[in-house]
Amino acid sequence: MKKSYALIHFRSKSLQFFGLSLLFSLSLFAQVEDTDNTSINVDWDICKYYPESETRISSIPVPDYIKQKMESRGTACSTFIVSYSGFTPVAQTAFQFAVDIWANSIESPIPIRISAQFGPLDPGVLGGAGPTDFKSVLIPGAPSNTAYPIALAEKLTGAEFPEGPSPTSVDISATFSSTANFYFGLDANPPGSQVDFVSVVLHELGHGLGILGFARTDDPDNPTMGILRSGVFVNVWDNFIENGTLAGIRSFPDPSVALLGEITGNNLFSNGPITTAQNGGIKPSTYAPAIYSQGSSYSHWDEATYPAGNANSLMTPFIAPGEAIHDPGLVTLGFMEDMGWSICGGSLTVEDFTLDSVEVSPNPFTSLIEIKLSNRFNDDYDINLYDINGRIVLSEVKAVSKSTMTISNLDNLDDALYFVKITNQRNGASITKKIIKN
Ligand SMILES: [Zn+2]
Repeated sequence: MKKSYALIHFRSKSLQFFGLSLLFSLSLFAQVEDTDNTSINVDWDICKYYPESETRISSIPVPDYIKQKMESRGTACSTFIVSYSGFTPVAQTAFQFAVDIWANSIESPIPIRISAQFGPLDPGVLGGAGPTDFKSVLIPGAPSNTAYPIALAEKLTGAEFPEGPSPTSVDISATFSSTANFYFGLDANPPGSQVDFVSVVLHELGHGLGILGFARTDDPDNPTMGILRSGVFVNVWDNFIENGTLAGIRSFPDPSVALLGEITGNNLFSNGPITTAQNGGIKPSTYAPAIYSQGSSYSHWDEATYPAGNANSLMTPFIAPGEAIHDPGLVTLGFMEDMGWSICGGSLTVEDFTLDSVEVSPNPFTSLIEIKLSNRFNDDYDINLYDINGRIVLSEVKAVSKSTMTISNLDNLDDALYFVKITNQRNGASITKKIIKN
């Protein structure tokens, strides 16, 4: 796969926590360091993870497919290197448990480095985590001016970025309160009076791995316009956000009143093909309440769609005392795969397919694709090839012969990233795989 990356674009200078008014906040201060020395601050709150006042006893344990990997003696799919500072033994054990869930959910050839602090924060502040840096990575077919959180940029390029203080610089910075009323158990059974620490760390590390967009407003308290870009860049998350009439968030004037309308329109969805497949073919709703709420709006799934107790509720904006969710959730993992992460053990959607396995090769391809199915049935299949903007560029119906289908005459396609969706006509089961033309 041909990959290249641009020079330094973003560098977060610090993570900053605000005082009494914010319960759980994270701000990223990033600077653009272009050749013309343009610099801007990315200084809005990504996550104020408000504990709700009401207790919601619910328990989503680590799913079996992740738990089995965690309990096996094999190596995890990715290596997280955490430097701990100030942690009590129980807090560190719980933090590491959350790290291990992610390490057995996503794959990266490059170690993901976390700096984790545990110490007194202002009353009400629980903590937070986020990327220390963003980079532009040029991927064929991906929209231009896309920034990636540093851990994902390194995964995509297969190399530690040479810029910065050292190639082994921290990718995710995390700070959590030593005085908050946390439950540090690993069993996903917090009492109704306490906030589950593992759930909170798992959520915040999700932001650090890329679950965040750049959309915000000119004034969080009295917004008059929406803003999307940071300099010329969007985060890769933003490439997959569209409204109910299929208009991408990138297509609106920036800044603009129209953009504010989108951010506060209760009508934003992720159109990531794998995300959508994991949500039963329905584009999942992101949180875009009519009254803009900085630190909750936009960079989370919709709370009402995925309430406490829902298997996809990890990345919603609120957590309640008594609520535990130790599962990244297939919708979130699907989004991570759409953004460029690889999922432990292969594409997620394999699990939903009724076939034992599906292999698409070669990848990258030039003029043809071969699709091999372990399948006892000679069913007919719809094969659709989508570009990164969700447009169908090729559509064929194939009958399986010897469990292999060949799609040929692909020379005329542009070199780019595509998604091939294979749907069994008999039972409707489908699978989506990423594939590169090169
Ligand atoms: Zn959050």
